[in-house]
Amino acid sequence: MDGSYVELSSFARRKSDLTSSRTSESAGTPRLPVFLIMAVLLMGGLAIDSFVLRLHPTTEMLMHPNVWLLLGAFAVTEAVVLHVELGKNAHSVSMSELTLTVALFFLPLAILAPVRLVGGCIVLFIVRRQRPLKLMFNACVWVCDVAIATVVFQSLHGSLDNGPAHLVVPALAAALAAATVDSLAVNAVIAATSHEVRFRRTLGFLRTCLIEGLACSTLALVCVGAVAWSPGLIAPVFISTALVMVGFNLYNRLRKQHTNVNVLYDFIHELNRDPHGLAVVRALLVRVADLLRAEDVVLYMVTPKEDQLTTTRLDSDDAPMTWAVHRSEVPALVLDALDSARPVIVRETDRNVAHRLFLTKYGARDALIAPLKGEQELRGVLVVSDRQGDVSTFSADDGLLLQTLASHAGAALSNARLVDRLNHESLHDSLTGLANRAYFHQRLEQVLEHGPVRSAVLLMDLDRFKEVNDTLGHHHGDLLIKEVARRLATQVRGGDLLARLGGDEFAVLMTGVEQDDVVATAERVRGALAQPMMLQGVSMEITASIGVVLAPDHGTDAPTLMQRADVAMYTAKHQYTGVQVYEAAHDEYSPRRLTLAGNLRSAIEDRQLSLRYQPQARIKDGVILGAEALVRWEHPTYGEVPPDDFIAIAEQTGQIRELTRVVLDDALQACASWAAAGTPMSVSVNISVRNLLELDLADTVAELLERHGVPGSHLTLEITESHIMADPARTTQVLHALARLGIRISIDDFGTGYSSLAYLKELPVTEVKVDKSFVRDLSEGNDDAAIIRAIVQLARALRLEVIAEGVEDENAQRLLQELGCDGLQGYHLARPMKPLDFATWIKGRPTASRRAPLRALPTPRPAGDNSTATNSTQTLSSR
Ligand code: C2E
Ligand code: CA
Ligand code: CA
Repeated sequence: MDGSYVELSSFARRKSDLTSSRTSESAGTPRLPVFLIMAVLLMGGLAIDSFVLRLHPTTEMLMHPNVWLLLGAFAVTEAVVLHVELGKNAHSVSMSELTLTVALFFLPLAILAPVRLVGGCIVLFIVRRQRPLKLMFNACVWVCDVAIATVVFQSLHGSLDNGPAHLVVPALAAALAAATVDSLAVNAVIAATSHEVRFRRTLGFLRTCLIEGLACSTLALVCVGAVAWSPGLIAPVFISTALVMVGFNLYNRLRKQHTNVNVLYDFIHELNRDPHGLAVVRALLVRVADLLRAEDVVLYMVTPKEDQLTTTRLDSDDAPMTWAVHRSEVPALVLDALDSARPVIVRETDRNVAHRLFLTKYGARDALIAPLKGEQELRGVLVVSDRQGDVSTFSADDGLLLQTLASHAGAALSNARLVDRLNHESLHDSLTGLANRAYFHQRLEQVLEHGPVRSAVLLMDLDRFKEVNDTLGHHHGDLLIKEVARRLATQVRGGDLLARLGGDEFAVLMTGVEQDDVVATAERVRGALAQPMMLQGVSMEITASIGVVLAPDHGTDAPTLMQRADVAMYTAKHQYTGVQVYEAAHDEYSPRRLTLAGNLRSAIEDRQLSLRYQPQARIKDGVILGAEALVRWEHPTYGEVPPDDFIAIAEQTGQIRELTRVVLDDALQACASWAAAGTPMSVSVNISVRNLLELDLADTVAELLERHGVPGSHLTLEITESHIMADPARTTQVLHALARLGIRISIDDFGTGYSSLAYLKELPVTEVKVDKSFVRDLSEGNDDAAIIRAIVQLARALRLEVIAEGVEDENAQRLLQELGCDGLQGYHLARPMKPLDFATWIKGRPTASRRAPLRALPTPRPAGDNSTATNSTQTLSSR
């Protein structure tokens, strides 16, 4: 048995070099070490022959009757190979050691080596078409292993004539020695060419060789015995040996088929797991290479361009690398395969000229070429080449397997293309092909997640794009957008993500940048757009406003950054600055705010404003004293807008006057309805400091009170502390006028406005509302409790009622009662409710009653009466 046929994986690695022409037989194999090893084997063998064995072959010896027989036997046993697959490695075992063992007994030792060489080389050269380097290597191994086997045999006095003692031991020892030489030689080549020594592999290999050697020599002994002593047994021995070999080969084939089914199953599973183009191609190439033990697998795919195909190979990290090749560079056999239905096997031994030409051009020893087809236009060819090792080549079975793999891959690739296309469409804008809003957000989130590099979002909106659309039509609008996209693309860096967020809004995501770079880019973009564009005969000049935000400076999450980029962009637009980096102060230019500002007037007129009522109760017995009216805006797009979002707008745009009148009207109507329903209660309305500057406010209120038939004492006006204190002199007059109507005045958000007692005393105030910031975290003995205690003391001194707002739980209520508050308002009692809900809620209260005076001092005091003030300059701490 001959270990040198064990396939040398180092001679036959999958080529990792992708583009080099693949011509030389040992591309990538260092030849020098191999030659050295060959030299050692050859010299060693010859030295043993001449100096130890002192062999002198003569021509008469060649006339020996057994020469031709054994030469034939060497050839046959060399040709018959058993394929043994151990894990990933395929071993091809020849039976030539059987012949060697027999020959030791029946041939003059001096011509053993030449006979073996000639018999073996004929097969390797003619049948197996082994390349010269390997042929030479095998010849050197044989010279050496025959010499060593002979030495062992001789020194153990092996002979047929001296009984079994001289038969069995020398034969076995000689065969094992030969097997050892073979295995060491092969290992040496592997180590030399792969530059690594693996003892485990070496030992495992040696073990296999020794077992094979033992098996062969045992069989050989049976043959020798039969030949020497009972020639009648020769035939049965040969027949049974042949049968065992055939059986073994059959078993191997079955085993391989079984493995292939498993691999196919895994392959399909793998394709389904990641149905994306590249993943499918990678799985295909890796699996095919492993399964067919090929050094090289290439996938050719037809492209929409007639004269081009793409070629995909795996790089050394098994990552697919694709490049385009011109049709003329693609081998004819590959082009033919595009239209064929079955695989073609190409071998060096083929007579077919086209096949030989292909191998030469492709630089391969053998190849399997199979078509790959999928849905629609998907067509390709898989070229699998260079079966590892050269004992076996691709078989018809391999072709069938490749065809099965290819058809699964074809289907998977079609699906993958579909998935990729859907993915692409869902993430890209169809007009410009740029990323869309969804993709932009996705990427922004990824970038932020991987932080901490500084990244920036540049949000751009074309100025007056609507005019283009309206005057020139959508067609020109689309052309303009495309041209803008094209110009933008020339201004961003390679790694930046350019997206069209919708309409005329574009965005750029930049990473690893400083503010200056971003602003410079924004200016460049504006500059590029400013160049006039000719769109189908129409010349247009377009400007853009760009908002810039930086992460983490302006936000660390995508929604905040995008909202702030929007704010900065609107600022740029409204202040005509072109480019604007976000600043917190710009927030009032937020688009939502601007929309709200634009819509407020009609909202007030169309009565989109409605009120919620939140009850207030007396702390000691829970009697409902009244309710505060809180305005809401039922906005057609934004839904219910809270007052904090539009009261300031109303104040700034002078619409607070109207708003307050609408609210007062509604609230007094509700108040009248409560009284009519038998539950008279007071209503509190918030008024703005601006309202206090309207000299006719008291008249308006008087008129409304009268219209709804509500007594002045049932209306409380709440004025925020900070507002009164900002300019008490101016508000005093109006407040007094209101007070004369019997209206109660409440100072809202009390504790936050640095109230000066001197002023408080002057104002016709009835109650203070402790701000909810003191109530929220209230607990026994903390600062908040101390402040509330001080407020209560002050209020007592000024004979004011104290109401606490923002009471959210039982505990706060209890503490407030202990601190001496008179009334409370907050979620604990009830949330602000719609009018009908409030009416229902009131009905459900057993103690609902009209407002009882909390303290007996609801009337304004004459100015200058400071008898109750303990310290006229006292100021309350604030939040
Ligand atoms: P405010 O006058 O201090 O009104 C109390 C706010 O606290 C209300 O918010 C109310 O819903 C909320 N609130 C009530 N109970 C609790 C509680 O237990 N916990 C907490 N955390 N909050 C509670 P809303 O309705 O959003 O009103 C906000 C502000 O808008 C009001 O503050 C008021 O200053 C102003 N506002 C509301 N309606 C009007 C109006 O008609 N005219 C004017 N000028 N301003 C108004
Ligand atoms: Ca209020
Ligand atoms: Ca308040």
